[in-house]
Amino acid sequence: MSRPPGKSYLSASQIRLRVRTLAASICRTYRNRPLTIVALLKGSVFFVVDLLRHLDSDTEVEFWNVSSYEGTRSTGKIRGLEHCRGNLHGRDVLLIDDILDSGLTLDRTRSHAKKLGARTVQICVLLSKQRKRARNVRARWIGFKIKDEFVVGYGLDLDQRYRALPSIRTLPSSPSST
Ligand code: 5GP
Ligand code: MG
Repeated sequence: MSRPPGKSYLSASQIRLRVRTLAASICRTYRNRPLTIVALLKGSVFFVVDLLRHLDSDTEVEFWNVSSYEGTRSTGKIRGLEHCRGNLHGRDVLLIDDILDSGLTLDRTRSHAKKLGARTVQICVLLSKQRKRARNVRARWIGFKIKDEFVVGYGLDLDQRYRALPSIRTLPSSPSST
């Protein structure tokens, strides 16, 4: 196996414990209310699956494949939203993403979920970067607040690599990302 890149930031056991706590809080909030999870692919795959293990068995799940990043930079555009569907009409929707960065992705997907008739839309992210956002987006559930650094692992990629790492690691920014 090749050596993992960058520096260790969050261990697999830290993530596991935090996910369990988040799931317990989500369960308390949505008790007796039918919930639809909308997970944004591909970055949130590990996170949503680990969360789902602890959520109510009636929870419905949709996967939306949207992307905005190339390398370590956001393109500023969201691709793929036109294919994002699901029976969200009158449902309480919880959007799940790996990381809240500029806020563009969650702002656009939240609007899309409302357009599809969601009754309420809340946001849960594993990571939230401490930086100025381009959009006013607040996540109700945040796993970890992190520095404004590029991270990989536990679903997060650099050009499709490193998703399979069990922990989260920081990478130095490439010169083109400054
Ligand atoms: P936003 O639209 O909030 O700027 O960016 C959200 C998306 O950008 C995330 O869903 C994620 O795919 C990607 N992203 C933002 N920051 C990082 C990062 O540090 N590492 C990785 N791998 N992806 C990131
Ligand atoms: Mg993403």
